[in-house]
Amino acid sequence: MNSRIHYTKPSITELEIAYATDAATNGWGDRCYEYIARFEEAFKAHLGVKYAIATSSCTGALHMGLAALGIGPGDEVILADTNWIASAAPITYLGAKPVFVDILPDSWCIDPALAEAAITPHTKAIIAVHLYGNLCEMDELLRIGERHGIPIIEDAAEAIGSIYHGKRAGSMGRFGTFSFHGTKTLTTGEGGMFVTNDDDLYETVLTLSNHGRARWQTKQFWPDMVGFKYKMSNIQAAIGCAQMERIEELTARKREIFHYYRARLAALPGVTMNPERSGTVISAWMPNVVFTPDTGVTRERLQVTFAQADIDARVFFWPLSSLPSFKPVSANRNAWDIPGRAFNLPSFHEISDEQQHRVIDGILACL
Ligand SMILES: *Cc1c(COP(=O)(O)O)cnc(C)c1O
Repeated sequence: MNSRIHYTKPSITELEIAYATDAATNGWGDRCYEYIARFEEAFKAHLGVKYAIATSSCTGALHMGLAALGIGPGDEVILADTNWIASAAPITYLGAKPVFVDILPDSWCIDPALAEAAITPHTKAIIAVHLYGNLCEMDELLRIGERHGIPIIEDAAEAIGSIYHGKRAGSMGRFGTFSFHGTKTLTTGEGGMFVTNDDDLYETVLTLSNHGRARWQTKQFWPDMVGFKYKMSNIQAAIGCAQMERIEELTARKREIFHYYRARLAALPGVTMNPERSGTVISAWMPNVVFTPDTGVTRERLQVTFAQADIDARVFFWPLSSLPSFKPVSANRNAWDIPGRAFNLPSFHEISDEQQHRVIDGILACL
């Protein structure tokens, strides 16, 4: 009997368990922020940024960052149509409008030329999401941002371990955000991180993240503004500290799994996978296969095949503009077309070669 092959599953060792146990046993009173501070320090050092604020989610980190930039009703924020809703939802929380543009056909990340063309007097930011750990064209996006005086934000939730021309994903924009949800490469169960090199933005988000209480404020229970409650707990941060000590192992394993698939699939006619351009390293959070239309391979056929083989592979993100909450932008041809012939492959830390072969066999059976 073949056992079920999971889609993602965290790698939790004795180290995570020891730290979480210590936090639950001793991390109270005066010591209730120790692991949080340590996790933030480790994350900053890894990314090469000045500031990091641990949060309860990436969604919360994005919400606070956008709020700190003063984004509100009537404003527009540009992002790729192909995305998880968490990248767009915080824009709507603030009463602003997400503007969806098409993706590049190979990296499935935002098309910089289309992002620039979508800029209006209402545009307040462009969110570059490094989809599936692939990298956005950051040089071009940052140039566009400078030309128009618009901040570029990086949602790097899927890209811990990705490097663009020597810089880590999440460290290049006005601010960056990460997720430590259970499906992500580094996990704390639920959790996120806000990172920036901007002194003022850091101060504002720090205040927002503490119910609007500025750190210089000496009056007790005195918020200087209405803030948010998106804090990470010390126990979650303890797990994060252990994962940070293992970050090279966690990201290297993701790449190893990706390379294993790529060596056996990417040479097949009509099959492409996540691209890795020269001068970049992709974290390969999620290995994807995309089939050319002439292969006749469809999402539906893949879904049936994988279900029969008891493999929990998943569909590619739907275009956000196809969801009931938004207006369709069918001009976004790649975003609307690619998901119909694409699939995410299982890539959890402990997947075996034999299990990867079962996935590969499933794909071969569809071709
Ligand atoms: C997972 C993910 C999020 C949401 O993260 P949460 O921590 O669940 O809020 C946001 N953006 C991207 C790109 C993601 O992959």
